[in-house]
Amino acid sequence: MPLYEFECVKCRNNVDTTLKTLEKKSDKKTLSELVNKYENINAIEVVDLVKNKIVAKAGKTSKDAVFMDFYINEGNTLVLVNLRNYRFSELIYSPEDEKTVKCSCGEKKRVEKVISSFSFTSDLSTDMPKPDLSNLPPSVRAQTSLGEYIEEKDRPKKNR
Ligand SMILES: [Zn+2]
Repeated sequence: MPLYEFECVKCRNNVDTTLKTLEKKSDKKTLSELVNKYENINAIEVVDLVKNKIVAKAGKTSKDAVFMDFYINEGNTLVLVNLRNYRFSELIYSPEDEKTVKCSCGEKKRVEKVISSFSFTSDLSTDMPKPDLSNLPPSVRAQTSLGEYIEEKDRPKKNR
């Protein structure tokens, strides 16, 4: 069956803008404003990986959402975003079907078919290696949801 992946440009831009904003300013007020402004973003948490501490967090995570992790400030800052996934799959039987593809935010026009087979995290992050999150002190880990969103392929081998 022809199953295609699509990305909502509107929702994706919200995340891009959020990350750019956080590179300049990442206090609680800014996070709250971003969570309120962007409908597809439920919660944001910013972790300083050098100092191993949470800089700020805002919003409420949602069950029907996913976690995405991004690295800003040359990889020194981790941004956890709880959001409704802007990438989704649709069954397409005819070119007409593509016109009816709709993101859960309601956007129809700015929805792109995804060609590359890269995972969505590699599209937005740079090529730098991911920090080993298992090195975070327990106090930080306990306050984050790190254990839940690490993809299976990224987990340390002993957990497999
Ligand atoms: Zn959308």
